[in-house]
Amino acid sequence: MQAAARNAPPLKKNEPDREAVALVQQALVDVGFAMPITMARGKPDGIYGDETVNTVARFQTQQALQRDGQAGHDTLHRLDSLFPPVGAAPQVPTPAVPPLTEQSVLMCPHSGTVMSVPTRASAPPSAGPRILTVNDVFVVNGCPLVGFLGRLSPCLTVQWVVSNSQFQVNGANTLTAGSVGLCENADRFPQGNVIIARV
Ligand SMILES: [Zn+2]
Repeated sequence: MQAAARNAPPLKKNEPDREAVALVQQALVDVGFAMPITMARGKPDGIYGDETVNTVARFQTQQALQRDGQAGHDTLHRLDSLFPPVGAAPQVPTPAVPPLTEQSVLMCPHSGTVMSVPTRASAPPSAGPRILTVNDVFVVNGCPLVGFLGRLSPCLTVQWVVSNSQFQVNGANTLTAGSVGLCENADRFPQGNVIIARV
């Protein structure tokens, strides 16, 4: 990666130096680009395939760099500049488990649909589906629960009580299949846990 950062040749599609590619991929993930194929095993695969080409191109667009999908001098330096100097702060850890995204299917225990609504503090737009964090607002639609003993009524919101502090986006814990959310009614009364039907 350092050789590539100094000058040509840039890292590009089918790059044989998988170690260098993996570093670039990790950096792209760390700055907020989801790379589900690359990260399928929880760490970068080092393969400069279509996903890496597309993600590098998106990064270049975001950074107003020449968009060619190749990780050359300018792109690598820009990527590098987004991280604190070595020794200044711990590196952002790789998520050990894949985070939930806007494509995940969440339900209340009564078959209501749990939708995430991004806020200004939510994960920024990225190449892949938006990663869910505790900074999102969660809305429950279609919970059929009706008044019961004067307490139960349709679930409306979710309070996350277990989230992933090991992998944060914008300083907010992300959500994973292991996260626990309480579905609450209008009185903020918990009525059961969020069911994660699909990660
Ligand atoms: Zn419900």
